[in-house]
Amino acid sequence: MKIRPFYDIVVVGSGPAGSMTALFAAKNGASVLILERDREVGIPVRCAEGISGRGLEKFFQPDERWIAQKINGAKLYAPNGQFCIMTAGAVGDGYVLERRLFDAFICEQATKNGADILTKADAHGLLYDNDKLSGVTFTHHGEEKQVKAHIIVGADGTESRIGKLAGIDTTLTLKDIEPSVQYLLTDINLNDKLTHFYFGNEIAPGGYVWVFPKGRNIANVGIGLRADKSNGKNAQHYLDDFIETNFPESSSLSFIAGAVPTAKTLPEITRDNLMLVGDAARQVNPVTGGGLSNILVAGSIAGTVAAEAIKKEDFSNKFLKKYHKQWMKEKGNHQKVHYKLKEVFFDFTDDELNKIVGLLHDIPQEKLTLFKLFKTAVRNKPSLIKELIKIYL
Ligand SMILES: Cc1cc2nc3c(=O)[nH]c(=O)nc-3n(C[C@H](O)[C@H](O)[C@H](O)COP(=O)(O)OP(=O)(O)OC[C@H]3O[C@@H](n4cnc5c(N)ncnc54)[C@H](O)[C@@H]3O)c2cc1C
Repeated sequence: MKIRPFYDIVVVGSGPAGSMTALFAAKNGASVLILERDREVGIPVRCAEGISGRGLEKFFQPDERWIAQKINGAKLYAPNGQFCIMTAGAVGDGYVLERRLFDAFICEQATKNGADILTKADAHGLLYDNDKLSGVTFTHHGEEKQVKAHIIVGADGTESRIGKLAGIDTTLTLKDIEPSVQYLLTDINLNDKLTHFYFGNEIAPGGYVWVFPKGRNIANVGIGLRADKSNGKNAQHYLDDFIETNFPESSSLSFIAGAVPTAKTLPEITRDNLMLVGDAARQVNPVTGGGLSNILVAGSIAGTVAAEAIKKEDFSNKFLKKYHKQWMKEKGNHQKVHYKLKEVFFDFTDDELNKIVGLLHDIPQEKLTLFKLFKTAVRNKPSLIKELIKIYL
């Protein structure tokens, strides 16, 4: 594919953050090029593929081509095996996606609106004209190339090379990185439309094991934990032990490993001629480790503001900060609260977890909401009240 030497906007990365930004920028009249390092959009998948109905349907009509399973609720397991089921509210309405196809779908929406894309295009440097950021250098099928643009968007995931190259401090502390691994397991005895979450300090210290069904007897089974709480045992060992106990007859079709940035949004996500979006900007929900719902919102804001900047011919940090402000208003401030809750909730002892789930067990599933769970947790850990006061005051 032939590309132009100059675009209004160059987006590095074709994950949901990059493609949403490209879609909204192109839809609003900007010329956009997406550079994707891998040979195919959406591969490899490093995700359990869960998304809330609300998060998805705000932007897209669910399409059976990229929905693996509709979800009706969640089942939460205490360390002693007792469980409670929630089917009410937001938890009772979700999807497990085929991310490979979902990512390709969003990218296709961007190209349908006029964006160009190059795959096997690995961005490795930034270009400057008189100290002004003006483009990207990249390797395409082994050939050195460059492209110029008014705005460069780093949507290049957790490791974000673009953020670092631009001099933004993207360092993550150990407590804000969740090492995660996952198998796609078949031959498991699972035939419901619930997501399953297993908690406990022996199971997943500072995190949880998830089982997200992708159809009959097939599911993403993974773990995310706090690196600083894992007592020298790595995430894969914890997960293998879990599978040995719970799904000894299963077979694995794939294995993935990744790191989820369960941090707060970076203090700086724009500079003159530059924006960071998605995992690159640390926009994940720090409690659940879920990024998709937040990132669809972030990309839509970033793309819209970038297109506005092009129309106004103002690519300054002062103008692009509009994206940061709007993100904080819509999701970022909420994310800050979740960050504090993460610190408090993942500190429960196994006895406390057993007690909370025990109390919730008898509430009918259609009446059990996240709010009730939250209330029970607070009642049973009075020190939480002190922490919550600190959060809200
Ligand atoms: C094991 C695991 C399970 C998860 N489960 C869930 C879940 O169930 N639900 C949920 O909502 N979230 C989940 N997440 C988080 C979610 O996957 C991420 O938040 C989301 O993928 C981030 O999207 P993104 O577009 O910012 O980055 P990515 O999806 O990482 O996309 C970044 C893209 O940039 C490309 N790229 C990187 N560097 C360059 C470069 N130099 N040049 C060109 N291209 C480049 C990459 O190839 C990639 O395509 C999970 C994460 C992990 C690791």
